[in-house]
Amino acid sequence: MFSESQSELLEAALQETPASKATNLEAVSAAKDISFGGESWVWLNGQFRHHRESLTAVSAHGLHYGTGVFEGVRCYNTIEGPALFRMQEHMDRFFASAAVYGIEIPYTAAELVEATCEVILKNGFLSCYVRPLCYLGTNSLGISSACPSEVAVLTVPDLSNSTKPLKASGIRAMTSSWVKFDRRMMPTTAKACGQYLNSVLASRDAAARGCDEAILLNADGNVAEATVANIFVVGNGILRTNDESSSILPGITRDSVIQLARLLGVEVQIGFLRPEDLSMAEELFLTGTAREVVPVRELDGQAIGAGTRGPITEKIQAAFDSVTHGDDPRFRHWLHFLKQ
Ligand code: PMP
Repeated sequence: MFSESQSELLEAALQETPASKATNLEAVSAAKDISFGGESWVWLNGQFRHHRESLTAVSAHGLHYGTGVFEGVRCYNTIEGPALFRMQEHMDRFFASAAVYGIEIPYTAAELVEATCEVILKNGFLSCYVRPLCYLGTNSLGISSACPSEVAVLTVPDLSNSTKPLKASGIRAMTSSWVKFDRRMMPTTAKACGQYLNSVLASRDAAARGCDEAILLNADGNVAEATVANIFVVGNGILRTNDESSSILPGITRDSVIQLARLLGVEVQIGFLRPEDLSMAEELFLTGTAREVVPVRELDGQAIGAGTRGPITEKIQAAFDSVTHGDDPRFRHWLHFLKQ
């Protein structure tokens, strides 16, 4: 997962003393993943601004209480030019997440898609990660106060170079001692800012223990999901994953993988996953926008299957790559080209 310099950062981060704690936490997050190009343009409330000028008041409600919703979307450089992957589904989830929390998004999905295309072009990216965000701004710090919504679209330079090696080698995961919050506590199907503190804790714990990722169980003791990814297991040639009744965020990559697997003739079963279903799996992989489809080669110090990427995982990765890069005409409708 990490480049050599990132590994050094992480190593430094893990040699923690109280005095160095703040710096170490920064190093952990710098080492982990999606870093932001400080000079890039962002779209904020209808205007393009340099990132360093995209300011928010410290009294913003979202900053204090996590009252915001966001999406993570990929723009791929396809044979026909840059295209957003399953943008419609991401917009649907963005608006659904906002609705659960009563957050008004004062733009239409079409306006946000257009803003996204423009900001990518303005930054000169052919491929990138896109982060639409809507959070409550300033009015009052009352917990249920009405506050105006602020809307932003950020772009992060292409992630493929950092994720590519792991897609072949697989990652090391651990079962977290942090439990995934239950869907009766917070709407797990919403992608809301404050909900991610659970993932932050689990992810930091995994990094501190030398693992790439944490897998969280739910309040019933079944498998929920990884910190920012869904989980699939393979056994006897059958692919299995869970659904929202296990307190997961049903991912758009998860949905893509289910559809692609069925087209490839792989049987897919949806139901509860028990912790032992993971440890005894022949293959185990995670799905998410940032990581795409990544094998788990080791869980809690034990090899999964042969400890290498399995054949079904590889087949699904290939199908997914082909779709995201515009090589499969059956899924052209999943791509929104920047220049139509
Ligand atoms: N679960 C959680 C908690 C996530 O944050 C994500 C990333 N959005 C996922 C699953 C995977 O969802 P997607 O495939 O839509 O990126």
